[in-house]
Amino acid sequence: MACRSEEILDALVKEARKVSFEGKVANYIPALQKESPDHLSCALVYPDGDCFSAGDIQRKFTLQSISKIITLAIVLMDYGPEHVFHRVGMEPTGDPFNSIIKLETSSKAKPLNPMINAGALAVTSMIKGSNAEEKVEYIMDFVRKLTNEPDIDYCEEVAISEFTTSFLNRSLCFYMKGDGVIHGNVEEIMEVYTKQCAIRMNCLQLARMGVVFAMDGLNPVTNEQVMPKEVARICKTFMVTCGMYNASGEFAIRIGIPAKSGVSGGIMGSVPGRMGIGIFGPALNEVGNSHTGLKLLELLQDKYDLSMF
Ligand code: GLN
Repeated sequence: MACRSEEILDALVKEARKVSFEGKVANYIPALQKESPDHLSCALVYPDGDCFSAGDIQRKFTLQSISKIITLAIVLMDYGPEHVFHRVGMEPTGDPFNSIIKLETSSKAKPLNPMINAGALAVTSMIKGSNAEEKVEYIMDFVRKLTNEPDIDYCEEVAISEFTTSFLNRSLCFYMKGDGVIHGNVEEIMEVYTKQCAIRMNCLQLARMGVVFAMDGLNPVTNEQVMPKEVARICKTFMVTCGMYNASGEFAIRIGIPAKSGVSGGIMGSVPGRMGIGIFGPALNEVGNSHTGLKLLELLQDKYDLSMF
């Protein structure tokens, strides 16, 4: 069964919004704290092109950690899985997304997986281009292909805000550089990373990206295979095992779909073969996932049986 009613979706969004007071907007990236906690918008995009939305879907937000899936897909296409997994692992973690601890305590500073910050920074260090600008453009081009929107850009204010305050991410880079996991200039990696995290879109555009992963890399609007099936498969698997940070196990049990969240409050969902989901709800829970977004996904799961398990 699928939700093909804007009225029902609207009612579910209103219901989920009621718990917004329990969450908190991220403030460790100063520019993110301007968002209002009671905002919640959602879009569902189906492979046949149908889409349904609720809430103020004009509202744009930055991808933050959702961008980690995009850059992972790019490096998997450019270098192949063997090369990529030589640098970054495949195992989930019970530690927070920005934790440094496993770099010291597990094998030779190789980050555990590409969905935590250390792993994502290692992935970003592999993006092709002769300078930061070219690398960012390369990422943007792929995002434009996924969303069918030539005008997608990044938010300069959020990028600068993170770039100037991101001491922990810089530390992760230096640690990995010391161990030979990443090469190149740390400031350049940080510039590309903070700009990829600041890529800005609304939840309908996010749902359009989600449906491409749900359809094994086929963009159902243009009918173009934008990434090989194998790459989409690996990305979706990481979304299941690590996509909701150190709450991915609980998410798999409660909702059971490949999904990736970001500290802006975005969640991209890819229900295999069925639909793409884009959610923006900036009120976060304690691990950094959208609290209202999770509530909404639970309501959708109860009503439409989204779980793949
Ligand atoms: N840009 C954020 C950071 O590196 C992304 C983290 C997130 O969304 N969890 O801290």
